[in-house]
Amino acid sequence: MKKFFALILAALFLLTAPAQAADSGVGLEDISADDFNTPIEKFYATLPQAHGDYKSRQRPILIEGAMNTETEILIRALKNPVAYREMNYLFVAGTYKNYPVVIVRTEIGLANAAASTALAIEKFKPCAVINQGTAGGHDPALKIGDIVIGANSFDYGAFRSAYSAAGAGIDITQQENIGTYAYDAATKKFQAYTEYRADPTLFNIAFAAANNYSGANVVSGVIGTGNGWLECVDYINFLHEKYGSSCEEMETNAAAQVCQNAGIPFIGIRVLSDNVTNDNRYVPKSAKVAQEFVLLVVERYVRDTLKEVSD
Ligand code: SAH
Repeated sequence: MKKFFALILAALFLLTAPAQAADSGVGLEDISADDFNTPIEKFYATLPQAHGDYKSRQRPILIEGAMNTETEILIRALKNPVAYREMNYLFVAGTYKNYPVVIVRTEIGLANAAASTALAIEKFKPCAVINQGTAGGHDPALKIGDIVIGANSFDYGAFRSAYSAAGAGIDITQQENIGTYAYDAATKKFQAYTEYRADPTLFNIAFAAANNYSGANVVSGVIGTGNGWLECVDYINFLHEKYGSSCEEMETNAAAQVCQNAGIPFIGIRVLSDNVTNDNRYVPKSAKVAQEFVLLVVERYVRDTLKEVSD
């Protein structure tokens, strides 16, 4: 009888156990959207709080993540971390492998990503910006835990719909991408960008790093950004087919836009926490995989390009 109950319990556990992404070194149980907040906030409280200017002989690399789940591993990886608050956004400056790095918790969504990126650029004068975190898959070939290196990003909400008369119904597939406005150094004007391309050096280094990374399947792709969360598979398929979107999330394109204004090299790197085209789960813990991979990219970027950088 006891054995029977044990079996039932085991079966129940298997059925209800949280889904796990491919393991890659950092304890999965250490990271979860729900139970992560208390420990990390306590950890932040132990950090020295800085109020004045940031001073560094070398321009730091700025790494962005929207939530604690997407920044904790990065922040804990910093040596000599110091916390700054600007307009209630959290920035933590320190060093990683002896190079200055700043992590910003951008908070969720395009406006927060843009505002915190602009503040970070003004305050920390980064030499490069990496926006990373979780995303929902649009490509059925990608599974939860896979990483997308964003060759480019676009705002999937920046569209002009085709005209249709009242009562004719709604067909959101009849649309044209009208882009978002950013500064073009050549014409000295703001112009519409239907996409922002990754900085080629950052992209090449990330792509090369992928060959030395066994923690996840890493591909290059297109990141679609919007303030929504799409679960309508027909619309997702439309975005995937028309714009080539590999995944959707809520920050990359806004951060890319601000980096275009400032002329700062940028790349977006995202791990799939969900992919409604082939799997009906949301696994926020996969955020750790992106952070671990991004630390490898940072290490390579410093090694290959920043040895001589100083202000
Ligand atoms: N409140 C929840 C979910 C936040 S999800 C939590 O605390 O876990 C929104 C964040 O996850 C955004 O920052 C976005 O960039 C990312 N994201 C992951 N999957 C997404 C999807 N399918 N659509 C939109 N954003 C997604």
